[in-house]
Amino acid sequence: MIVKPKIRGFICTNAHPVGCAASVQQQIDYVKAQGALSNAPKNVLVIGSSTGYGLASRITAAFAGGANTLGVCFEKPPTERKTGTAGWYNTAGFHAKASAVGLYAKTLNGDAFSKELKQQVIDTLKADMGKVDLIIYSLASPRRTDPETGEVYKSTLKPVGQAYKTKTYDTDKNLIHEIALEPANDDEIQQTIKVMGGEDWELWLEALDQADLLADNCKTTAYTYVGKELTWPIYGQATIGKAKEDLDRAAAAIVKTKASKNVQAYVSSLKALVTQASSAIPVMPLYISLIYKVMKEEGTHQGCIEQIYDLFTDKLTQAQPETDELGRLYMNSKETNDKTQAKIKALWDQVTQENFHELSDYAGYHHEFLKLFGFDVSGVDYDAEVDTLVDW
Ligand code: NAD
Repeated sequence: MIVKPKIRGFICTNAHPVGCAASVQQQIDYVKAQGALSNAPKNVLVIGSSTGYGLASRITAAFAGGANTLGVCFEKPPTERKTGTAGWYNTAGFHAKASAVGLYAKTLNGDAFSKELKQQVIDTLKADMGKVDLIIYSLASPRRTDPETGEVYKSTLKPVGQAYKTKTYDTDKNLIHEIALEPANDDEIQQTIKVMGGEDWELWLEALDQADLLADNCKTTAYTYVGKELTWPIYGQATIGKAKEDLDRAAAAIVKTKASKNVQAYVSSLKALVTQASSAIPVMPLYISLIYKVMKEEGTHQGCIEQIYDLFTDKLTQAQPETDELGRLYMNSKETNDKTQAKIKALWDQVTQENFHELSDYAGYHHEFLKLFGFDVSGVDYDAEVDTLVDW
């Protein structure tokens, strides 16, 4: 099959297997060029391992730290007529590279919120890896089925408290326009917390502890985005922000309940960048196109792999990592410092349909977006027939 991108709204509905593998290879090359991690964890579980920050975490743990990795993701395999999802091909690419250098890697594809998947992870750890010393929680999901009641909860992306009118960029129609977002009601806030809050992270730690699979002094982290004034109304202080606040509660609860093992649980605050999850959030494509422009000019631009490699070296491999006043591992000061934010705000106020491509780095945004699905990756021949029925 010859595979060209099929973009529908904020998503690409297909993926290129060779491009995804090449993009994984680029990330591996990056961490290897940075050098091996000191005090690296040896047995790492990554929940949400196939794309974005979770994939970068897995690559860093394995290729900069030499770790055995067990991944969990929710991806679609290819069929005769349809390509697999990008996360499927990324995982296949990761497995091929890991096995080529003798690194243990296994991935379980299924619903991380379910009891069944947690049990499969426990069985696999018992059979192959033993206790884990790092657990990365990097899920981004629009819904969650409660494992006890079977009730399905849906997350919403809405402001809290009051309506919010702002600019956004419609990537599909190439249009800057105003959007008015109505505030969420209480039920929508609670449902978003159920999906993207800390409850499932706690359930994972509890299940692993019950199975005696937590190493003493093991670390765990869940990822958040905090942002500043420009994104607070739709992120930090919105429904998703409320869910992310619940991660702080969960981190404290994990530390308390797992004190006998001295488990260190942190929320890591990461920068905004193009992933499948962030492209679905109104305002974010415009905001990210502007921060790419400013941060590239400042020489501080980072993608997932650069940010995560720094998280591992500066924080996760330190015995007592420095935290912010909320106890978080804060990694996005290069984006949220006042000077950089002022430049972004100035561009934000000026940006119109006419000057958008000049003021922003939308070209960079779009390139990263295509790359998420294995397109626009250097060195890949997109006119060539490829075998899409790739497995891992
Ligand atoms: P992503 O969409 O690239 O990755 C999500 C991962 O979760 C994938 O591996 C997917 O397969 C997996 N997943 C989703 N539902 C699942 C389920 N039910 N069972 C098993 N696996 C499932 O997202 P991302 O942007 O890398 O986000 C990861 C985390 O980082 C999220 O918590 C997000 O809020 C946070 N974060 C993102 C940004 C950003 O700008 N993208 C910034 C800071 C923090």
